[in-house]
Parts: sequence; C-alpha cells; structure tokens
Amino acid sequence: MRVLVVEDDAAIADAVCATLARAGHAVDRLGRGRDAERALRDHPYDLLLLDLGLPDSDGADLLRSLRQRGDTMPVLVITARDALRERVRTLDLGADDYLVKPFALAELEARIRALQRRRATQGAPELVVGRLHLDLAGRRASLDGMPLELTARELGLLEALAMRRDRVVSRASLVEALCDWDTTLTDNGLDISIYRLRRKLEGSGARVRTMRGLGYLLEAGDD
Ligand code: CA
Repeated sequence: MRVLVVEDDAAIADAVCATLARAGHAVDRLGRGRDAERALRDHPYDLLLLDLGLPDSDGADLLRSLRQRGDTMPVLVITARDALRERVRTLDLGADDYLVKPFALAELEARIRALQRRRATQGAPELVVGRLHLDLAGRRASLDGMPLELTARELGLLEALAMRRDRVVSRASLVEALCDWDTTLTDNGLDISIYRLRRKLEGSGARVRTMRGLGYLLEAGDD
C-alpha cells in the first residue's frame, strides 16, 4: 500500500517511515502542508498519516479540504493535541482514526492494519479467492491453511489487486501502489513480479487475469 506521511518532526517522521517501509509499504514523506496538498492531488495514496501542527498550515484545514472534494482516502491523524475537544473535532472533520503523541509504533501499525482491513473487506478479517486466503491484518497469504511464501513486492501486488477485487487495476495504479518517490519499477520489473505471483497462485483457484490494454484483475478461477 502507498502511504503519505505528513509530519514536520524529523524524529517522529523517521521512526514512522522506517516502520512502514519495513512492513513493505511504499512511503512518501513531507513536512509542510502545502507540499502535501500538491502530492495528494498528483498521486493516489491508500493512506494519509497527518500531523495537525504543521509549520505552514493546520493539518485540520488539509483534512477538511480533502473531504470537501469528496476524497474518501483513509486518514490517520497523529497529533500532540490531547484535548477532548480536539479529538472530537478531528473525527468530525473526517479523520478515520487518530493517535496522540507520544505513541508506540506497534499501536500505529495495528491501527493502520485495522484501517486497511476495514477499507478492503468492510471489516472482515480476511479475503478469500478460491482456496487463497489473504489475511490483511497479519499480512499473510495461505493456501488451504499452508503459508504461501511471497516476497514483499509480491505480497504488495496481491494486496493491491485484492483490495480492488473484481475490478481492473491498471499497470500505472499497480506501480503507484508499489513505489514511493525513491523507488522505480520498470515495465519489465512489474512483468516479472506478476509472472512470479501467478506461478505461486497456480492451482489455488485464484488467478490474475490480463485485460489487454487495461490492466489486471484478481478473480476466482484457474488458468
Ligand atoms: Ca508538528
């Protein structure tokens, strides 16, 4: 999943970004509200982690304008403001969840998994396609209960397809979901990852179907 972290405190941003990258997410990082506004218009993100106290603006204004233009992207607010009034206001503005600083990274990860799960499966703990079970919270895939060994990129690819199940996902969207600004994925690299994922899904009852000129579709059915 591709995440935008908007946080001006370098130590917190370092820790959060390292944690997310270790979990296999593509992470972009910004410290100013205006830069974040631009990035959000230019790239499709799966999650926004938003600090409210930014040097050039109030994160709450950014959140308000995001929701006003109808963007439903999950937003997790990270804030130093602990007052009840602030927490209520943050949720009313359209945040999906919030964490008050200082917070434990393990809690941040758990809340992100919960948001991801809610988004992808309306709260169900896992997605099932054929005999493939994808546990979005635990970030594990299995076939008939046996773990399916996937690389971080293959898992990211499977999640990107599974979260848009039965819809065609373009190659550009897959690249956006898998790469941050510092990583590139060539056409060939994407082809190789798709090829390897397909090999691992053989006989699973789940397949990645090519929609010529449009993209890919995860659906039930064997090749
Ligand atoms: Ca701040």
